[in-house]
Amino acid sequence: MNNILAKLPTTIQIDGSQGEGGGQILRTALALSMITGQAFELINIRAGRKKSGLMRQHLVCVQASQQISQAYIEGAELHSQRLYFAPQHVQSGKYQFQIGSAGSTTLVLQTLLPALLLQNEASELTISGGTHNPLAPTADFIEHCFLPCLKKLGIGVDFKLNKAGFFPIGAGEIQITIQPWLNREKLDLLDCGSLQSIDAFAAVLNLSEEAQIVQRELATLNKRLTLNSQQHFHLKGISQGNTVYVKVEHQHHTQLFTALGEMRKSAEQIANNLAEDVKYYLNSKAVVDEYLADQLLLPLALGQGGRFTAQCISEHTRTQAAMIEKFIDCNIEFIELDKTLFQVNIHVK
Ligand code: AMP
Repeated sequence: MNNILAKLPTTIQIDGSQGEGGGQILRTALALSMITGQAFELINIRAGRKKSGLMRQHLVCVQASQQISQAYIEGAELHSQRLYFAPQHVQSGKYQFQIGSAGSTTLVLQTLLPALLLQNEASELTISGGTHNPLAPTADFIEHCFLPCLKKLGIGVDFKLNKAGFFPIGAGEIQITIQPWLNREKLDLLDCGSLQSIDAFAAVLNLSEEAQIVQRELATLNKRLTLNSQQHFHLKGISQGNTVYVKVEHQHHTQLFTALGEMRKSAEQIANNLAEDVKYYLNSKAVVDEYLADQLLLPLALGQGGRFTAQCISEHTRTQAAMIEKFIDCNIEFIELDKTLFQVNIHVK
């Protein structure tokens, strides 16, 4: 340890190979470190992944966090297995970040959002890169599912998809305005209430046979689900790709299920798999899906806590809970009520 480190507050030690062992451990550590002012040392970064260490999109999360918090960092290089991060002071403002590949813009947003929400002034972010990536929330999921749920907690964020970005070109862009979080509401989402509507949406960007792909996906979904509407929506951008999503609206919650077109999969296969996810959800009594469950834990722990039901508790969700409890004085509890119904309770001390 050098002199600078010796003067810094105690460092939280994190092993990146724990639990799920992915990029979320890094992103959550960055978010919580900026909020609490606690430095951390992360070793074995993304050890659970085939290509371990910091990839381009993770490095952008580190650099963006450093920029908004004037942090002292060590090990912020491509493929690095160790990172030391000591934040100073989080500064709201207007920022632009470029991933420079199709790395996920929404994951960069989720890294910065918690710290920026807790400032006294609004912030505006423009992030370019991928907006529709596998294994990450799509821009549609953020806009129509994640942010509306945060609104229930009193969190005000405006989100705009300026350009869509698909792998490998990316070149998408999201623009976000984050208002200071003034009234922190408790979440009580054990029951979703009655079903209001199920709507399907599909879009294609810069591919030939655009109309046929969209039509085949929507027709397949229409066969498998009782839809209220089928909509062909338009995307701007220079990359190529296809996305389809289903919006399930209940009285107390709107849940989105998303899928991306793939090279060797037919439009029918993509839509059939998506319909399976939606049916599985409709057959459970849970309010939120597997993905929203892990994404809600941090905002709840930073506010008044609360409770919700989820259709499954993934390794991501358990790892996320362990990370949050490392930095914040709170208790996160998972209760299995049924095979597809879990209650999550978050008590903030
Ligand atoms: P990691 O694998 O650690 O980089 O984390 C991936 C993040 O993306 C987690 O927060 C997941 O909940 C989220 N995620 C993955 N797939 C989806 C999906 N289909 N819809 C919404 N969020 C997703």
